[in-house]
This record gives sequence, C-alpha cells and structure tokens, in this order.
Amino acid sequence: MKLLVGTNNIGKVREIHELLADLPFELKSLQDFAEIGDVEETGATFAENAVLKAREYARQTGLWTVADDSGLAVDALGGAPGVFSARYAADNDARIKKLLHEIDKSSDKNRAARFVCVMAVADDSGEIKFTAEGVCEGKIAEHPRGNGGFGYDPVFIPYGFQLTFGELSSEIKGQISHRAHASAKIIRYLRDFVAV
Ligand code: IMP
Repeated sequence: MKLLVGTNNIGKVREIHELLADLPFELKSLQDFAEIGDVEETGATFAENAVLKAREYARQTGLWTVADDSGLAVDALGGAPGVFSARYAADNDARIKKLLHEIDKSSDKNRAARFVCVMAVADDSGEIKFTAEGVCEGKIAEHPRGNGGFGYDPVFIPYGFQLTFGELSSEIKGQISHRAHASAKIIRYLRDFVAV
C-alpha cells in the first residue's frame, strides 16, 4: 500500500521518511506528483493546517496521506512565530536573524521555547482518520550553532542538552523531536488499523 508524505519541505520529507521507514508502506513524496500545487495554510492552528494539507493532498492523489504542520513558539515573543514559522521572513537565515533580534528587543527575556508538530492522516478519499501532536521543549540559543537539521534547528537547544539541534545528530533529533513524538502515535495508528 502507498502512503504519501504530504510536504514540500525537504528537511521534513527526510525526517518523516526516516521515522516511518519501518512501516509496511511504499512511501511517496510530493516530488512524485509534479502536477500538485502547494496547499494554502489558512488555518489558525497547527492542527487546522495539518488537516487541510492531509485532506487536500489525499484528494488530489487518491492516496492515504500523512501531513504535518509544525513550528516554533517562543515564550519571550508570546508564542510567536507559531503557525507563521515558515512565513516569518524571506529565507531561513533571515528568519533566524529576525527571531534573535525580536527576543533581544523584547522586555520579556525568557528564552524558553518549544517546537510543536501536529500530524494528520487522511484516507484515500481525503477523510481525516487520525491526528497526533508532539512537543519538544527547549530554549533559544544566543547565536546559531551547527549545520544539521533544517529551519530553526541552529538556534534551538532541546531540554536536557547543551547543544542545538543544528549540532546534535539526526539520530538524537529523531528520538526527541516534536515530529518524533507525533510520529510515534501516528505509527501506532497506521500499524494497528491501516496496515492490516
Ligand atoms: P510548515 O509546517 O510547513 O508551516 O513549516 C513549519 C516551519 O517551522 C518550518 O519551515 C521551519 O521553519 C519550522 N520548523 C518546523 N519543524 C522544525 C524543525 O524540526 N526544525 C527546525 N525548524 C522547524
């Protein structure tokens, strides 16, 4: 059975493929469906956007689909950039620069932050069958460190570590990240109720 991983973000494609690798599905990417356009993230929450993406990509391909919406919430910024994490600035370097600048400017100096990921599974008709949330607590580093991962990884230090996700191995990130926690629940659902 085929399962579409509904994201255009290369970093996410890599991580989700690794997390779901042991399931008995033939994993497909949006790269396999050149004709499909981006789904607009019009939801106000991670859950709404994950559902929008899973439903729309499943409808367009006729495949069971897993999609995620994720982002970074920083306490000093009242939870920003949140659902706007991908749209916070023009490119990755600019997003990190803006984030550090906004925290420096903020009267609240609390660098505590969390990555949040909601994953949704839609069946081949686009009906949502399951959703799961994962959270990874941590804090924002003073400066970017490391080249691993993607997105805000160089400035995120997960709780219990001194290094950023940019410096930690992909194996460690794959065990403790927001996406890993959401995936663990999705994997149980897919294994017990879909791959039978
Ligand atoms: P979206 O889910 O496609 O809206 O994108 C979420 C955005 O949040 C990404 O483009 C990244 O900027 C950020 N993000 C989500 N998960 C991670 C992660 O694991 N590491 C670093 N940045 C992330």
